[in-house]
Amino acid sequence: MTPLLEFRNVTKVYTKGLLSRAATTALDDVSLKIEDDQPTILTVAGESGSGKTTLAMLLLGFIAPTRGQILYKGKDIAHLRGEEKVNFRKEVQAVFQDPFAVFNPFYTVDHLLTVPIEKFKLARSKREARDRMDEALSAVGLRPEDVLGRFPHQLSGGQRQRINVARALLLKPRLLVADEPVSMVDASLRATILESLRNLNREHGISIIYITHDLTTAYHVANSIIVLYRGSVMEAGSIDRVIREPQHPYTRLLIDSIPWPDINRKWGQTEIVAREQEHGSVETGCKFTSRCPFAMDKCRQAPPPLYRVAPEQVAACYLYDAQPVVERERLSEVLPV
Ligand code: SF4
Repeated sequence: MTPLLEFRNVTKVYTKGLLSRAATTALDDVSLKIEDDQPTILTVAGESGSGKTTLAMLLLGFIAPTRGQILYKGKDIAHLRGEEKVNFRKEVQAVFQDPFAVFNPFYTVDHLLTVPIEKFKLARSKREARDRMDEALSAVGLRPEDVLGRFPHQLSGGQRQRINVARALLLKPRLLVADEPVSMVDASLRATILESLRNLNREHGISIIYITHDLTTAYHVANSIIVLYRGSVMEAGSIDRVIREPQHPYTRLLIDSIPWPDINRKWGQTEIVAREQEHGSVETGCKFTSRCPFAMDKCRQAPPPLYRVAPEQVAACYLYDAQPVVERERLSEVLPV
């Protein structure tokens, strides 16, 4: 079956300066697939500058890849026209970090929800439009009577973010790109928003690409994870394996920096200690070399391939070079749904 979404060896290079043409590779040869018939939640994780937001922008068609292709239902999104393009815009929705950004302070919530209904002709009457709004708000755990008719400043950050999710849901999307959706919301409200996302996946069959730097929220919401570092996949696999048994030195560093509420787990127990970043010193080999306490000569010579370190886990690291190699194009075969 044709995948819903496919990244084929996607690379994005940004250049700046008219004369120097300095180039930064924001995403480097990334391949992934979201199957049409198996709705899933995939986390794309990494620090700032890892390429995760570039991946979201590419996926939404806001920017074009430098190399490679992004296919939606088998068609290159760069070549979508007419009805196919409208369908793509409708079926692939986004929720961004800032729950305030999409609100105009002079309009009520009703206005925000009515605009997509009118734009995509989702209802034939006011009654039907209201029913759709009620349905979408209820799906994210909001009572329509609590939020409709209200202005943005009369709502909490958590309510605003759930209204954003409801707005995306109105269009009955197939894929939702959630870029740091809870990072600007109070910790007490995060669980409700994450639960709304899980419901959309389980009950409405919507696949979600959850983009975050926060591995604790990823652990609670996702089925699988891809860890990016400076645009490259460092580790990927089932969320349970990668968070509980991280293999790549970079993932271990990320996980070790989380203050887990687990009395049996000592904070800082792993031996990985990040060195000062010396970005740019190694462009031919593993991008993590300058920070890695295990770096070997061969790490500086060529980028490591993905090694299969467990049935549902791969790591791009020469420490595992006795394990079988998984071609980057076949990464999705390792990720559970
Ligand atoms: Fe460290 Fe080498 Fe593995 Fe890169 S390939 S993470 S430098 S051991």
